[in-house]
Amino acid sequence: MLNIILFGKPGAGKGTQAEYIKNTFNLIHISTGDLFRKNIEKKTSLGLMAKSFIDNGELVPDQITIDMLKNEVIKNKKANGFIFDGFPRTLSQAEVLDLFLKSLKMNLTATISLDVEDSVLEDRLIKRGKTSGRLDDQNIEKIRNRFEEYNKKTSPLISYYKSLNKFHSIRGTGTIEDIRNELNNLINQLKLDD
Ligand code: UDP
Ligand code: MG
Repeated sequence: MLNIILFGKPGAGKGTQAEYIKNTFNLIHISTGDLFRKNIEKKTSLGLMAKSFIDNGELVPDQITIDMLKNEVIKNKKANGFIFDGFPRTLSQAEVLDLFLKSLKMNLTATISLDVEDSVLEDRLIKRGKTSGRLDDQNIEKIRNRFEEYNKKTSPLISYYKSLNKFHSIRGTGTIEDIRNELNNLINQLKLDD
């Protein structure tokens, strides 16, 4: 099985690249952000719980996010593997994910970070906000709050996965195609090492 976490700040290109990887390697793509947005659109109770956090650029509490993620994995237990996009975002989410995968006799292959500097990310998010309709992309204060959440709560995952020897990073700037090729090469290498 190939189980990959795509890691990076808001706007780093995780969703875009996940679309390619999932087709190339026949994986299930789980974006917790997309799942929340679908639930918000359908006005489910999960969506109602998550909405205010998301609109303000804050993380949704761990337990809500973890329960949703577990459900999604279990629904697809027979998959070739998974791309986790935007999850985990806190240390406790990462620890739960490890235990959960182990309980299913699954294993995390690697975490791959897409590295992009904040000024480029701000431009990308503002641009996306003009077409996506996402409130959290339309306001610079909210965007900066998401970076702060990342710095405080998500960036500790870098040393966590480094200590497990599972952290890799590639540059997230350049053409979409160049980045896709870099990712493909890296994942093919990881498959060989496995
Ligand atoms: N979010 C969260 N936990 C997740 C995924 C998303 O709390 O596991 C929330 C959080 O408020 C975040 C927003 O959803 O700012 C958008 O996340 P998404 O991954 O879709 O967008 P990105 O930050 O990658 O632009
Ligand atoms: Mg995304």
